[in-house]
Amino acid sequence: MNCEFCNSPSTQIYEVQLGSHRSGMQRCPVCLSCQSDPLFSESQVEDFYRTQYFSRQDWQVAKAKLAAADYFKKISRKVAPLKMNRALEIGSGYGFFTKLVLEQHPDCQMDVVEPSEDCRNFMKEHLPKIHSLNLTLDAVPEQSSYDAVFCFHTVEHFQRLGSFLESLKTRVRTGGRIFILTPNAASRSFRRLGIRWGWTCSQEHFQFLSIGIPDSFYRRHGFNLVMAKDTCPATIQFPSYWMAKLQGLKFHTRRLLSESSLIARMVSHLCDACVNQLLQNKSSSKLLVIEKVWASTFRFGQKDELFLILEKM
Ligand SMILES: [Zn+2]
Repeated sequence: MNCEFCNSPSTQIYEVQLGSHRSGMQRCPVCLSCQSDPLFSESQVEDFYRTQYFSRQDWQVAKAKLAAADYFKKISRKVAPLKMNRALEIGSGYGFFTKLVLEQHPDCQMDVVEPSEDCRNFMKEHLPKIHSLNLTLDAVPEQSSYDAVFCFHTVEHFQRLGSFLESLKTRVRTGGRIFILTPNAASRSFRRLGIRWGWTCSQEHFQFLSIGIPDSFYRRHGFNLVMAKDTCPATIQFPSYWMAKLQGLKFHTRRLLSESSLIARMVSHLCDACVNQLLQNKSSSKLLVIEKVWASTFRFGQKDELFLILEKM
């Protein structure tokens, strides 16, 4: 395939999967961004996120709350001076970030898009101030009225950034801004670890953006690039060293022994169990001591997250 952003020929770096469907993650050698090709159908993707992606668990709720505090810390200074009458959060999860925005801008009308029913029910129950809860972006009226759109750790779940920007073009007012946080395709650890990177998540992440995407790409879709910066993710989201090792072990065992062999399946189950254990420890803030030391030692200089601000032309 050719890169959506700079049109250079890309090469496959690993296989991605959506249920029983397979595709490949392609990396552009010029702008370093990655996108899956061939495309999964829209209905396959929608079905997956509606039915399988989220199931409410206490540790997920706790993790979402900590992540939201980090997003807010990153964007609050950029958002505080904005006049915000209407804002939209896409992929709001349990709504913790939206809650923080409403505390800073109590008069702002906040709408959210969230495919998971569990999450929407949680927001209905706990966040009555949210103006509207939408299943998809298509359900949001095209009124060119949003002053700000927030989209955190969501665009990696889409397949093409261009069509996403096209659907926002008719919903954001001229001069309105989109704030995006997403895994950084150009990060050193991703380039070094490949599929073993903590954020690869080859069954749910279908594109990774980079700082090298040319301004002309954004302009073609109606937006000016205001800022592109690589930054350090929240410790809670840090692509875990141990998780990366466990995923590597799983990957290599499967490759060496064939996926169906008894030992490969046993190793795979064991790795999954350990990863779940790690995730649960992290989310209840009882991050394993060794992980915490590791993450804070390597936090500086780690630029695994990308922060983008776009402005509607
Ligand atoms: Zn490119």
